[in-house]
Amino acid sequence: AIRAAPARFASAFEALHAVFGYDAFRGEQAEIIAHVAAGGDAVVLMPTGGGKSLCYQIPALLREGTGIVVSPLIALMHDQVDALVRNGVSAAYLNSSQLPAERAAVERAYLAGELDLLYIAPERLNAEPVKRFLEEGRVALFAIDEAHCVAQWGHDFRPDYLALSELAERWPDVPRIALTATATEATHREITTRLSLDGARHFVSSFDRPNIQYRIAPKVEVRRQLLDFVRSEGTDAAGNPVSGIVYALSRASTEKLAAFLAANGVDAMPYHAGLDARVRRRTQERFLREDGVVIVATIAFGMGIDKPDVRFVAHVDLPKSVEGYYQETGRAGRDGLPATAWLAYGLQDVVQQRRMIDESPGDLAHRRRLAQHLDAMLALCETVQCRRQNLLAYFGQASEPCGNCDTCLEPPAAWDGTIPAQKLLSTIVRLQRERRQRFGAGHLIDILRGKETLRVRQYGHDSLATWGIGADLGEQQWRGVVRQLLAQGLLATHGEYGTLALTDAAADVLSGKRTVMLRTEPDRSGRVRGPKAA
Ligand code: ADP
Ligand code: ZN
Repeated sequence: AIRAAPARFASAFEALHAVFGYDAFRGEQAEIIAHVAAGGDAVVLMPTGGGKSLCYQIPALLREGTGIVVSPLIALMHDQVDALVRNGVSAAYLNSSQLPAERAAVERAYLAGELDLLYIAPERLNAEPVKRFLEEGRVALFAIDEAHCVAQWGHDFRPDYLALSELAERWPDVPRIALTATATEATHREITTRLSLDGARHFVSSFDRPNIQYRIAPKVEVRRQLLDFVRSEGTDAAGNPVSGIVYALSRASTEKLAAFLAANGVDAMPYHAGLDARVRRRTQERFLREDGVVIVATIAFGMGIDKPDVRFVAHVDLPKSVEGYYQETGRAGRDGLPATAWLAYGLQDVVQQRRMIDESPGDLAHRRRLAQHLDAMLALCETVQCRRQNLLAYFGQASEPCGNCDTCLEPPAAWDGTIPAQKLLSTIVRLQRERRQRFGAGHLIDILRGKETLRVRQYGHDSLATWGIGADLGEQQWRGVVRQLLAQGLLATHGEYGTLALTDAAADVLSGKRTVMLRTEPDRSGRVRGPKAA
């Protein structure tokens, strides 16, 4: 006879109180738990910090048998299981980091009906012997965490997730709950169909994090800007330093930035996967235990870190997608108190990311998806409307202007940039006619501003009809024009040098059929300055 872990509690509330020590459910937790505990399938879209874990942990305690949790990140598995065991839940995991003897002990406990929760990596769950072994015991439910990993459209696709659809056929009577914090409508649809969850109930929470103030600034002198930002956000009302995370793209820049901040009196430390495991652990522990530590990290940092009072998240490089940006900024202000998400980005970010996409392995469809993710991120950066409205619209949720983002608080002035756009586009047309395909934005701006550089003279570009016709704008402003035309889909970049080319839509601008509105950019001091004040 099968030995099943017994139901541990009679009611969800009892489990919430006795195991987790909380007084009330949050948001839709109670409904989700009731639905799954009663044997229903569910798709749960809830923002980071919303409390997804309880949605499967409590039903597993209410149902007979073991809750099987599919989770892609071994490090997180470890932390989650530790936390559960500390709360008196019988939990374990199976993954490739274990010795055979450890695995055997976990398997024995499962078969003996001693486990409430068992965490398994997807590739392991897909192995036939593991499935046969699970059939020898009693499964209470399957929880598929980070379910967006099944979506090819998404930003975090993992092929191992595709085979999870088989769970529905193999265990038709066992409820399944798929959870994610990063779901656009397209991802939501993919999760539903690929995991055979057509009959499931869908629980879609609001993705709004009203206490987070979103701010996005053009990159001018990023170290200085970051230091100014950290200094202005870096203390609480009582003058004590607050905790924050700064995200950078490369390991080298996390180290340089951390050193720069530290040299300027900020308690900053770098964190990336190349550091020694002991150093990483110490850094993480200091961040969790002490106030006022600023971590400068690659995006590896933060997943599964449950620190409620992170007061700011800063990005000094452009995130690759809105999903990623939303997930990373979501690590700020989990306690519900005011927090800030600040991002600085520049033309170079756009050029660099386009190049990375061009060079990325995978088929054309894959590269096109990456490009669409980047375009959505750029549109968020360049919008003259409410950032939050734009962000929520991306996740399919309509909202009103929020009053708590930079564009709401200081509405950007917009100016008619049609003529500068025409000057820029026609210069590109002329260069293309010459079949000179290897000029990036810098050279183009030199031509427009009539700068006699070596390259300009070498190629005879001072004899172009557009040479010097853009002297009324400064270099920084021209960079803003280029960036915004990229974001509006009027320009595209190609190749290693970020060569700029017109898109089909640009023809209407050149012919005067379409006007181009551009946002007025603040200068380096943060003041807003008109286009003529170069
Ligand atoms: P998610 O997985 O959605 O990011 P978690 O499940 O990690 O969120 O929960 C985020 C935090 O909120 C955790 O510290 C968790 O213990 C806490 N939490 C979850 N539900 C409740 C609740 N009902 N009451 C109080 N705290 C909760
Ligand atoms: Zn707003």
